[in-house]
Amino acid sequence: MIITLKRKATKQEEKKVVDKIKKLGYIPHISKGVDITIIGMVGEFAEKYKETFESMEEVDHISEIEKPYKLASREFKTENTVIKLPYGIEIGGTKVPVIAGPCAIESKSVLLETAKIVKAAGGTILRGGAFKPRSSPYSFQGLGERGLKYMKEVGEKLQMPTISEAMSVEEVPLVSKYCDIVQIGARNVQNYDLLKACGKQKKPVLLKRGMATTIKEWLLSAEYILAQGNYNVMLCERGIRTFETATRFTLDLNAIPVVKKLTHLPVVLDPSHGIGIREHVPSMAKACLAVGADAIAIEIHPRPEEALSDGAQSLLPAQYNKLMEELKVLAKALGREI
Ligand code: PEP
Ligand code: MN
Repeated sequence: MIITLKRKATKQEEKKVVDKIKKLGYIPHISKGVDITIIGMVGEFAEKYKETFESMEEVDHISEIEKPYKLASREFKTENTVIKLPYGIEIGGTKVPVIAGPCAIESKSVLLETAKIVKAAGGTILRGGAFKPRSSPYSFQGLGERGLKYMKEVGEKLQMPTISEAMSVEEVPLVSKYCDIVQIGARNVQNYDLLKACGKQKKPVLLKRGMATTIKEWLLSAEYILAQGNYNVMLCERGIRTFETATRFTLDLNAIPVVKKLTHLPVVLDPSHGIGIREHVPSMAKACLAVGADAIAIEIHPRPEEALSDGAQSLLPAQYNKLMEELKVLAKALGREI
């Protein structure tokens, strides 16, 4: 339920309500407007305490959130969430940062070489996996912590926030220690222990949609992270599985306006995994921008033929450079900026 404090409630009045929520064993989720503060109290049997809060003089009224996902819903927070990253980068504002880099961190030198290409053309966030969810157990599984160390070093050198995937609860503190965003991959979107672990740490989380996840399930997964008190969650559409086999997945562009209406969380789009074919990634990246992406995630490799993972969908540097120029022009026309 949502507890709306009376207008212009003081810090002390707010604290009284917050303390009461904590005393009852719930986490208070505070959302502040100009004069109005609302506090979400969610969890099993929360509604039982409706009258307790209604009778507090600091409280104006209590309302219910209709949607099954509460903190992720626009009912809880109407304004878009803007996620602040190091070096002044934001996700969810007018600027649309491009997140780019190799699928996997392969070596320090290749990562640095790639990051320089990414940055030179205007990409601002560096991506790369150290723990890789490969379909085959015989494929390259990633460099693990050593890769994360390279990521940190290269990110700091080039002043770029970094993102990398955690596949298990144990990997969350590692990714969180070395990187600026923790990525949860498509295959783990409903790994609830993993989501809870992401909610308990402080770094922003990028939650990929699973290849067979409905929008409602995806938002409920985001709710798992938010419910632990980490509000810096962004969603990432990366393609769903349909009957079509000519492309790797089907990038569900329909989902974007729908999701944006339902949630205040920023939405990132990943055309690389979505289509899986290098030649067609630029077309889809432009579509992502047009449909309202808050950031675009792209795989790029200096020599995709040598890539240890996802070479077929990784852009060549020249393709990436051209795409970035096109995205800049398109963003302007859309009232946004790369
Ligand atoms: C990735 O970003 O490299 C990745 C493995 O993505 P997904 O989880 O969307 O397959
Ligand atoms: Mn990949």
